[in-house]
Amino acid sequence: MAAEVQTFRGPVSSSALGTTLIHEHVFVGHPELDLDLPHPEWNEDVAVETAAAGLERLWDLGVRTVVDLTVLGLGRDVSRVQRVAERTRVHLVASTGYYTADSLPAFFQTHGPGRLVGGPDPLVELFTRDIEVGIAGTGVRAAMLKVVTDRQGLTPDVQRVMEAAAVAHRRTGVPITTHTQACSRHGRDQLAFLTERGVAANRIVIGHCGDSEDVDYLRELMDGGASIGMDRFGMEHVLPDGKRIATVLTLLAEGYADRMVLSHDAAFFSRVTPPSWRAAHAPHWNMENLSRRILPALLDGGATQEQVRQLMVLNPARLLLPARLEE
Ligand SMILES: [Zn+2]
Repeated sequence: MAAEVQTFRGPVSSSALGTTLIHEHVFVGHPELDLDLPHPEWNEDVAVETAAAGLERLWDLGVRTVVDLTVLGLGRDVSRVQRVAERTRVHLVASTGYYTADSLPAFFQTHGPGRLVGGPDPLVELFTRDIEVGIAGTGVRAAMLKVVTDRQGLTPDVQRVMEAAAVAHRRTGVPITTHTQACSRHGRDQLAFLTERGVAANRIVIGHCGDSEDVDYLRELMDGGASIGMDRFGMEHVLPDGKRIATVLTLLAEGYADRMVLSHDAAFFSRVTPPSWRAAHAPHWNMENLSRRILPALLDGGATQEQVRQLMVLNPARLLLPARLEE
């Protein structure tokens, strides 16, 4: 077996992934709202063309792989993203998991061991099938797991999602990435919870760490073996890029180049912050920001080409390779 990572077009050698954006979204929606309260800026055919054209611009900038971390709870529609994948040279990587900061839908309250309807935990079945067989009959296999904590911390349903992700990870070796609210520093709880359940720290990316300027907290996560996602470049309504760059430079100078990954958490369309809002309020929040502005600024600030390659190519390739194939 070669060292391969699953993409929308099938397995790709991890050494061929190239420059990788490890935390992005193609389309963020909401199936029920999309049906009953359609967004006035949404048009599927236009959105598919917009995303494909955007990915082709990324290819011209040297980006070769984009990980779509749109999981359930964010309106994942893999067959729609397949239409995009057919129209671009960029490798798109699918993910599985569940995005909720507090509770799961009622279905999950009645299904699972010891619950009213019973049966095995549908989350474990879903995550495992998405990784081993394919997502919703498309044959597209997920290559990353995603879990969430936010301000509410480890609620019972959040713990259930994380437990299921740990089970799926142990079966498949697929890495786990997280959403965190950086200011509540719950990355510590995520790391402890997952490592207690048999997930090696070096298979975990604590996401949205770039929102934080608390370098003691960030060092603690990396010293614990995790990688951190400096993955919201362009979200200047949360923290200006200049401050995000300064933190990365500080940590590079301290020798943490092998524990950071860079991305934008951008989307070609999101109904949460639609294109008109983004254009007016977050003009740099797009997937070209790293190539056009941030990487040159890091190099100007003292980062080496070798460090940039580590952040953008080597770290994502190492993380995305299923763990059981690493040895
Ligand atoms: Zn995200």
